[in-house]
Amino acid sequence: MNKEELMKVKEKALEAHIPIIMDDTLEVISEILKKVKPKRILEIGAAVGYSAMCFSEYLQDDGRIDTIERDEDRIKEAKDNFKRVEVEEKIYLYEGDAVEILPTLTEKYDVVFIDAAKGKYPFFLEQALRLLKTKGVIIADNVLYKGYVMSDYNKHKQRTAVRNLREYIARVNEDANLDTEIMEVGDGLAISYKK
Ligand code: SAM
Repeated sequence: MNKEELMKVKEKALEAHIPIIMDDTLEVISEILKKVKPKRILEIGAAVGYSAMCFSEYLQDDGRIDTIERDEDRIKEAKDNFKRVEVEEKIYLYEGDAVEILPTLTEKYDVVFIDAAKGKYPFFLEQALRLLKTKGVIIADNVLYKGYVMSDYNKHKQRTAVRNLREYIARVNEDANLDTEIMEVGDGLAISYKK
C-alpha cells in the first residue's frame, strides 16, 4: 500500500468536505480488525474509498473488501484512488444503491461496516445479519448523529434519520444473538458481535 498517496486522498477529501471516517473512529475499528484478522469485509458507503483502503491493511493475505457506493463522481474517484494507493486487488466496488445491491449478495463476511444513508440503517442491519459469519462483527458509524439521537429536540429534516437510528440501536440491543457496545467516538459507533 502506498501510504503517502493514502494521506493525499484523506487531505483532498477533507478539503472537499467529503465525509470520511474520523481519526478516533478509525483507531477503534483498527483495533477490532487487528484482533479479528478478517478475510472478508463488507462496507456500505465507500465515498472516495478512504476507510476501505485503511481497513485493507488488516485483511488476511488473500482477503478482500467489498464496498458499495451510489454517487457517480465518488465512484470514479474511489476507483482512481484504489489504483493510486495500490490496493485495487483487495477492494471490489459495487456501483449503485446498497438497497438494491445488498439483497443480491450471498457470500458471508467477518465484518460489516455500515456508513451510508442513516434512514436506511434498520434495513442495512437486516442485510448485515443475513450476510454475517458466526462470531462476525457489525460496526455502524454515526449512530448518535450529533447527539440528536439522545435528545428530544429534532429538526424536521433529521426526524426520519433519528427515528431509524433509534430503531437500529434498539434492535441491536434487543437481539439476543448480539453483544453490542455503543461508543461515543466520532459521531457514535455501534459495535455488535454475533455470538
Ligand atoms: N466510509 C467512507 C469513509 O469513511 O471513507 C465514508 C462514507 S460517507 C459517510 C457515506 C457514503 O455513502 C456517501 O458517499 C454516500 O453517497 C453513500 N451512500 C449513502 N446511501 C447510500 C446507498 N443507499 N447506497 C450506496 N451508497 C450510499
